[in-house]
Parts: sequence; C-alpha cells; structure tokens
Amino acid sequence: MKTYNVSESKFAESKKYLSGGVSSSLRASMKPVPIFAESASGTQIRDVDGNEYIDYMLAYGPLILGHSHPVLMQRIVESMQVGFTYGIQHEGEIELARLLTEVLPAAEQVAFSGSGTEAVMLALRLAKAYTGKRKVVRFHGHYHGWSDSIFTSFPSSDMSQKPLFEHESDVPPGTAGQSEGSLQDVLLLPWNEPELLEQVLRTHHQDIAAVITEPIMCNSGCIMPLPGYLENMRKWTKALGIVLIFDEVITGFRLSNGGAHGKFGIIPDLVTVGKALGGGIAISAVGGSRSIMELVESAKVSHLGTLNGNRVSTTAAITTIRELSKNNGHLYQQMEATAGKLAEGIRSLFRKHDIPGLVNQPGPMFHVMFTELTEVNHFDHFQKRDADAYTRFAELLMEEGVLVRPNGLWYVSAVHSDREVDETLKAIDRVLEQLP
Ligand code: PLP
Repeated sequence: MKTYNVSESKFAESKKYLSGGVSSSLRASMKPVPIFAESASGTQIRDVDGNEYIDYMLAYGPLILGHSHPVLMQRIVESMQVGFTYGIQHEGEIELARLLTEVLPAAEQVAFSGSGTEAVMLALRLAKAYTGKRKVVRFHGHYHGWSDSIFTSFPSSDMSQKPLFEHESDVPPGTAGQSEGSLQDVLLLPWNEPELLEQVLRTHHQDIAAVITEPIMCNSGCIMPLPGYLENMRKWTKALGIVLIFDEVITGFRLSNGGAHGKFGIIPDLVTVGKALGGGIAISAVGGSRSIMELVESAKVSHLGTLNGNRVSTTAAITTIRELSKNNGHLYQQMEATAGKLAEGIRSLFRKHDIPGLVNQPGPMFHVMFTELTEVNHFDHFQKRDADAYTRFAELLMEEGVLVRPNGLWYVSAVHSDREVDETLKAIDRVLEQLP
C-alpha cells in the first residue's frame, strides 16, 4: 500500500502560505491528497514519498514529448545561456512565427502570449474589433480559460432544453468575484446541435462577433463533432460575417502539427494554441488571417505581455514542433497507436469486469467514463456519467502506480511505449476488480 505522508504534510504546510495549497484550483481535487512531485523523466514521475507513477496527466497536456525530453532540455539550456528574455526582439520570434504559419493552415500571421487563457482573450478581442460587434457564441462543456469575459461554470444539463435565448440571461459565472455583466455578451449553446446553431446565427448575426469552439470537445468527454457540424459552422459564420475561432489549446500540436483544423481541413478565421506547443514551457499563440491579425499591427487592438515571445519559450516551441515534425510526423501515428491500444485495452477490461463504461479516443488523448450509455456524443450524455466512480478509479490507479487526472481525460506522449501500456492495463485490471 502506498503512503502519501510526506505529500500530506507538505500540503498542510503549503496551505499556510500558498492560497489553497495549490497553484491552480483544479489541482486541489486530487485524491487522497494533492501529491507533491520530487522529479520526473520521460513517462515517469516520482513523488516526495518515493512513489513512482506512469504519467498520463502530463501536466494537463503540455508534455507531448514526455518529461525532460533530452533534446528539448539541451536546446532550452543553450537558449538560457544567451539570455532568458530580452524585452526587445530576437530571431527566435521570427523563426517560430514563420514555422507556425507553415504548419497551422489557419495562420497567415501569429501573436504570442504565455497561456491559453491569454490567447483566447486576444482572439475574442480581435474578433470583436474586426466585426465591430460584441456577442460571442460559446458552447456547454467547452473550456476557454478563466478570463472574466468567457469563464462560465459547467452548466446543468437541463439548460440545453431551455428555449432559444433564455440561455443569454442564464449564463452562469465561473467564479465568485467575476465582474457583473462580464458574460452579458456570451450566448451559451449546446454543442453538436446544428439546427439550433444555424437558427441563432441567422437570427442574431448582426450582434454576433464570434463563435468560439473546441473543434473536439476535449474538456467534456473527448466528443467528436457530428459529421458536417464544423463544416456548416464554417459555412454559416463566413456567410454571416462572424469570426470563427477554433480553440485548439488542447488539440493544437496534439492531434497533429496542424491541429484539429489541419486534420479536418476546416479553416477557422482564428486559432488559439498553447499547452503542447511549448512542450511544458509556458507559451501560447493566436494565429489567423492577415486581415484580422493586422489589427495588432495597426495598433487598433492591444496585445501586451512582459514575457511574450521570450527566448526560452520560443526555443521550446520551435524544438517541440521540429521534434514532432521529424519523419513526416510519424510520432503522431505512434502516439495515436499507443493511445488506441490503451483505449481498446480499457474497453475490453470494462467488458471483462462487466462494468459499464466508455472510452472516447480521438487521438493521443482520450476520455474514460463510467456510464451505462453506449455512445457519448453530446454534453448531456457526458453529464450522465458516474464522475464519483471515476474519481475513485483514479485514486486506486495511483495506488497501482498510474497517474491520471481525476476527471477522466488521459494524455499520451511520444515516449509512452507498449511496455507501459501493458503495465497500465494490468494495473487497470486489478483496480476494476476492486470497484464495486
Ligand atoms: N482553452 C482550452 C481548450 C483549454 O483546455 C484550456 C486549458 O485547459 C485553456 C483554453 C486555457 O489554457 P491555460 O490553462 O493555459 O490558460
């Protein structure tokens, strides 16, 4: 049996000085205690109690090359030796910007910032400035960062049943302290409901600046868009003068180097990328059509940030993209195969133990759910999963040396191998045996 005594006492100590004891609210939900890392390498992470885990949390997504990838580490160290950040321009910004315009089909130009939240803030601002309109359509179960103008709590499932535009006044704030009225321009709609979307866009297009969507609903069940849904979204927004934003903070550089939009062949007006882009170093970007991105150049839209485009983060991103691009991107095929083997293995273990469950696997990430449903392709279906059973499952997996997020989303890196998949499946087998 693993013990977490040192983590427990460090968490107690941390709470004395660090508000909540963690640096991002979500992390507090880890059971039995938010564990403290001692070190990590490749797919392995070791906590301060000496417990070791195969890591499928991957720092909530960024570690696409695993922990401390040797090439990435070397380049980062080299970059640090010539200065971390300058506050003036350097060659690395041009190189990364050029690279992004080459690999992201939606990006004729880009702008850098430090987090996904900031990238989304800029994308929304650009869309509003470009169109001269102010409303933004977003969807239930998607997450676009925690800035006041877009952060909503996950709504209850019955909201999608309400008649059109009662949604508007009902958009629930994501947190106490959010400025009053900050969500008054947000229209919250159920995702994967094309008729409703078309109706809202056609009726209210004079007010709608942007539609923002995760191209795959990674934050709630890794749900794929219904056939034609994103294509129609693209067609309607274009025809009605609405900026389409794909929030690819998860899918960018995870699903493919061209993100989901590159893979699907659907070109939004703006795309946001973050997480995997920096391989674990903080960097994000907005890319888009020149006509929209020009608003930054003409200084109509402010884009600011002390550490934007710094030497270390641009080096990390360039190196990550180059590593992922090697051999025609074979790492993506490898990661997808590894994730596929794991997902299929989990499905067959669910069957073996007669436990109703589902795994949605769109690529090198997947969502594991305990549910009686045979298909989860809508947020309402996702809400019906047994989230508590999954939290228990995640806790028992930690006991078995496998680290996963308590909410069901798994990430696979380029360094996860078949050996680790086999070990993980054996651990899951033992854990499912223990579940009621
Ligand atoms: N957009 C999406 C789709 C995300 O999943 C996230 C974070 O999980 C964000 C934006 C915000 O990114 P960050 O946590 O880097 O601010």
